[in-house]
Amino acid sequence: MATHGDVDPSLRPFAYRNRKIQNWAKTFQSAPELYFEPRNEEEVYKILESARRTGKTVRVVGSGHSPSDLALTNDYMVNLDKMARVLNVDKDRHQITVEAGMRLHELHQVLKDNGMALSNLGSISEQSVAGLISTATHGTGIKFSSLSTMVVSITLLTSTMRTITCSDTEYPEYFHAAQCSLGALGVITRITLQCEPFFRLEAIQTPSKLDPILDRFDQIVHSAEHVRIWWFPHTQNCVVWKANRTTNPVDHQTDSWTRDTLVGFHLYQFALNLSRFAPSTIPYLTRLIYNVVHKPLRRVVDDSYKIFNFDCLFPQYVNEWAIPYEKAPEALGRLDTFIQESNLRVHFPVEIRFVDADENVWLSPSYGRKTCYIGVIMYRPYHNPVPYKKYWAGYEDIMRSLGGRPHWAKAHSQTPEQLAKVYPKLHDFMRIRKELDPSGMFWNQYLHRHLGSIDKTYQISSKL
Ligand SMILES: Cc1cc2nc3c(=O)[nH]c(=O)nc-3n(C[C@H](O)[C@H](O)[C@H](O)COP(=O)(O)OP(=O)(O)OC[C@H]3O[C@@H](n4cnc5c(N)ncnc54)[C@H](O)[C@@H]3O)c2cc1C
Repeated sequence: MATHGDVDPSLRPFAYRNRKIQNWAKTFQSAPELYFEPRNEEEVYKILESARRTGKTVRVVGSGHSPSDLALTNDYMVNLDKMARVLNVDKDRHQITVEAGMRLHELHQVLKDNGMALSNLGSISEQSVAGLISTATHGTGIKFSSLSTMVVSITLLTSTMRTITCSDTEYPEYFHAAQCSLGALGVITRITLQCEPFFRLEAIQTPSKLDPILDRFDQIVHSAEHVRIWWFPHTQNCVVWKANRTTNPVDHQTDSWTRDTLVGFHLYQFALNLSRFAPSTIPYLTRLIYNVVHKPLRRVVDDSYKIFNFDCLFPQYVNEWAIPYEKAPEALGRLDTFIQESNLRVHFPVEIRFVDADENVWLSPSYGRKTCYIGVIMYRPYHNPVPYKKYWAGYEDIMRSLGGRPHWAKAHSQTPEQLAKVYPKLHDFMRIRKELDPSGMFWNQYLHRHLGSIDKTYQISSKL
């Protein structure tokens, strides 16, 4: 509930106190002094003016799905859920302009109604459009770049009270920085996205083994428009998921509630929770769930966004790095050896996805190189903690040694010096950041830790 006390009267209609904000996995939280839900750009300006006057930092939070403290602050937090309108639909060019707080699942429906769809997606559609692009969220498909490359133009409100609309042709440097800006340049209020005509996907899931996959890696990755591989560590078992555009009718004949929901979700969650007290059972559990739930062949046809998205099961610790595509077989082989030799008991899957190089998104983890993303996970059944730090340390050592770049949204341990070595445009990003936000209004603890100091102090609590 809003309790306004001494809040500037012009902010009161959209300002809230006593909001505790947690990310989706409940691994990080903060208690912003004021939480704002502005309804238009004028109200965003009022927030920025107030922050300037009072010396507060500002972070925008989207749907809070980043598994880190990236979006958090204890000063002013802004959420654009009330700025989620459609501003323009251009059916000829297949472009749509929306307010930046719109959630992806809402966007899909609007696009479908207008005969359009996004060309690629990640595993979920809970994100806000601005949140999605601010971390260069990716899907899979070796001929598809990060989702930030779908952006045609961005409107940004800055701490110097400027409204900037940028694109490839208008303020191109601002644009290339803003396409993945980590919330550090200002408040993104409007985004135009390039879409394509509405399409359905046919997805086929087949069981396979890790070694034969590594032997024919390139062939498998190029064998469909969208390919992902789930590897079940402690075993050689994998699932290869392939999806292609199709005109076939919707078909879910291979779905099974008992297998997918009862066993694959509820029983697995229960067993995972028990395995906290007997971690040695994890490899057996992995084999069992693989054989019952994931091994059977599946074929599904549906609207593209329903096929791209997955049930990500339970709250989780997650780490994911982008490595040069050609290093992927070596990375997976080394990860397998590390897990076996370190006597760890880790959860499945290790998720392997592919992204084409992008040439202009300065902070995209796939900037300038074809990329393989390798993601590792430790579930937190019923939000209970599980040990993961030794796993992360060994995993990160391997990814780092192969020139890896961590996914910005996820909790990682890279220092500013290490990141500067793998992001050739980081220096340019910091130059634009300084120009657009000289006072560091949008800097927070995460950015301080990973990109360096601009002399402020931040305190956010973490359950890590
Ligand atoms: C279950 C799950 C599945 C996921 N699957 C994938 C996947 O398949 N691929 C992938 O790449 N990632 C994936 N992610 C990560 C997710 O896509 C990113 O964390 C994304 O940034 C979250 O968007 P959000 O709206 O929740 O933004 P938040 O997490 O709230 O914020 C992310 C960043 O965006 C900034 N931001 C948000 N709105 C604005 C704005 N209006 N103006 C300026 N900055 C803004 C924030 O300040 C912050 O820096 C997944 C996460 C979860 C929890």
